[in-house]
Amino acid sequence: MAELNLILLGPPGAGKGTQGERLTADGGLEYVVTGNILRAAVKEGTELGVQAKAYMDAGDLVPDELVIGLILERVRSEEAHDGFVLDGFPRNVAQGEALDAALAELGRDLTGVLYFDVPDEEIVRRLSGRRVSQTGRIYHVEFDPPKADGVCDVDGSPLIQRDDDKPETIRKRLAVYHEQTEPLVAYYEQRGLLHRFDGTKPPQEVEAHLRKTVSTLRLEDAV
Ligand code: ADP
Ligand code: ADP
Repeated sequence: MAELNLILLGPPGAGKGTQGERLTADGGLEYVVTGNILRAAVKEGTELGVQAKAYMDAGDLVPDELVIGLILERVRSEEAHDGFVLDGFPRNVAQGEALDAALAELGRDLTGVLYFDVPDEEIVRRLSGRRVSQTGRIYHVEFDPPKADGVCDVDGSPLIQRDDDKPETIRKRLAVYHEQTEPLVAYYEQRGLLHRFDGTKPPQEVEAHLRKTVSTLRLEDAV
């Protein structure tokens, strides 16, 4: 079977993680979640974590020289051999270009970019109600609550609110998204790689649309 190399693109809170978890649940595609990798480094207090923390707390992007090598290493890894889903990378055009160069070197192509369209007011509602488990599983107090209040359905760990999901940081992250990440929509659209999804629909509906598109991409790739 041909490999499937996908990017999840959209503002913070658009549902990339929620859908990425679903799309990769069967383990066929390597799921690379940039934010989780960075947060793990912060928690472990590694050199990278120490350097990244201030940017993340402020809602800014972590500098390219720290992020690009880290993610490309995962793209080149054995685990990504049958395909990958990138969540949170690229987040600016320089990162997009670095990914293109790395894939060209590997003789591989992007299969598609799945873009989640969600307006800013909805983003604020989503991020302020987001709660996550110790392993990064995603919930929402209103839109996707856990079965028992405040604990993860899967491992029972307490759910927490991310530091950067506080109102001032949310506004900053949205501004950074519009300024630095949104240009990637045109970047991929010009190459016919962009697939748009109405991210305001309920999670099950978004998932159904995504699966349909992914199946089509698999079929197109097979011919
Ligand atoms: P969200 O899921 O809400 O979009 P993430 O978990 O993806 O947030 O990212 C959290 C933070 O990690 C970002 O605000 C940024 O500081 C940093 N980060 C994540 N991905 C990247 C990236 N590709 N380049 C630079 N910084 C990043
Ligand atoms: P991202 O990874 O793009 O930052 P998440 O998947 O973490 O986004 O979703 C942000 C918040 O919105 C979470 O609390 C999640 O439960 C909730 N959410 C995700 N998708 C939907 C949806 N389609 N409708 C309503 N809420 C959603």
